[in-house]
Amino acid sequence: MSISQQIMDQTEETVLHTYNRFPVVFDHGDGVYLYDADGKQYLDFGAGIAVFALGYGNRDYNNALKGQIDKLIHTSNLYYHRPLRDAAQQIISHTGMSKVFFTNSGAEAIEGAIKAARKYAYMADGSNDHEIIAMRHSFHGRTVGALSVTGNSHYQDPFKPLMGGVRFADFNDLDSVKAEVTEKTCAVIMETVQGEGGIYPSDPAFIKGVRELCDEKGILLILDEIQCGMGRTGNWFACDGYGVKPDIMTMAKALGCGVPVGAFVLNEKTAAQSLAAGDHGTTYGGNPFACAAVAKVFELFDEMDLVSHVRKTAPYLEKKLDELVEKYDFLACRRGMGFMQGLVVKDRPVGDIVKSALNNGLVILSAGSDVLRFVPPLVITESDIDEMTDRLEASF
Ligand SMILES: *Cc1c(COP(=O)(O)O)cnc(C)c1O
Repeated sequence: MSISQQIMDQTEETVLHTYNRFPVVFDHGDGVYLYDADGKQYLDFGAGIAVFALGYGNRDYNNALKGQIDKLIHTSNLYYHRPLRDAAQQIISHTGMSKVFFTNSGAEAIEGAIKAARKYAYMADGSNDHEIIAMRHSFHGRTVGALSVTGNSHYQDPFKPLMGGVRFADFNDLDSVKAEVTEKTCAVIMETVQGEGGIYPSDPAFIKGVRELCDEKGILLILDEIQCGMGRTGNWFACDGYGVKPDIMTMAKALGCGVPVGAFVLNEKTAAQSLAAGDHGTTYGGNPFACAAVAKVFELFDEMDLVSHVRKTAPYLEKKLDELVEKYDFLACRRGMGFMQGLVVKDRPVGDIVKSALNNGLVILSAGSDVLRFVPPLVITESDIDEMTDRLEASF
């Protein structure tokens, strides 16, 4: 039996089977490539689900983490430390928001955002039956609170009853959002660009309309930028591209480029009247190791001018994907922004294409039931894009 097979079998014996994993054992990465335990090379257009934006083996990033490991990995949130200040300053200066809370994951950032919105409304009127409007086909994570605002019955049904006070509207349909507003509405939560649901960018008129509606009714707007933030769309955060500012924003995925960390960020108005000492906490969240990663990620993004690189290179990816849509009848259309792109597949199981691509040395993802998802490391070049489309076409 091969070593890879042994590792896969022994993993399945012990790890709860909540994922149908692809039969590959990744061993190491270098730049935009991954290598499996047998030395086979894969071009990575998945980036560990939109996480590893810097590519693998960035020396400055790795050295920053190694340095922090030798100094101090963890202290708890009972004390101050330098990486916390540094990471927080970076987030505040890059978002224009006012205050940040660090979490260990995206789902936890959503949990915090929900609590912050409810506390804000509670401070305003003293009642505790507030409602949140969320979108159908959204994805906000798997913890019970985050699941409660995730508009997908497949994810929700086995785990009901979930958190109450959630109403669902249709994404990109402003009237359907207006129809769900009541006296009790405290927040609207949505992804700026829906990811897992199938790569749907907000229509500009929709997201601006939601912002206006929220302002008019005194409702907080929570934008989930966990997948679409951190430069992926060619702006620091996708909402920047629309000229829309949320009251609360969540981030994770590329925030630590592989070190597990998330955050929710509040604007000044929300921060002034929401979570206070004793209202929220976490043992690990924002520890020195995670914060050293976050601070270095922002520093490197700026040094490498990565956001402009995405903006400059994305039209080439779009052009190549559009050419595929022209050429193949089973590709219905392309949707997306920047390096967050989807190809809609008809008449073929999308999972088969993802598997076939893997055989051909290409990592891509699916989204929803019928979308091929491309969320590469942000450092890819035009020649990487050419190589991707070659390997993809070989997989068709
Ligand atoms: C991945 C994701 C989450 C959940 O993040 P986890 O770290 O998996 O908990 C939430 N929202 C969006 C938009 C995501 O893409």
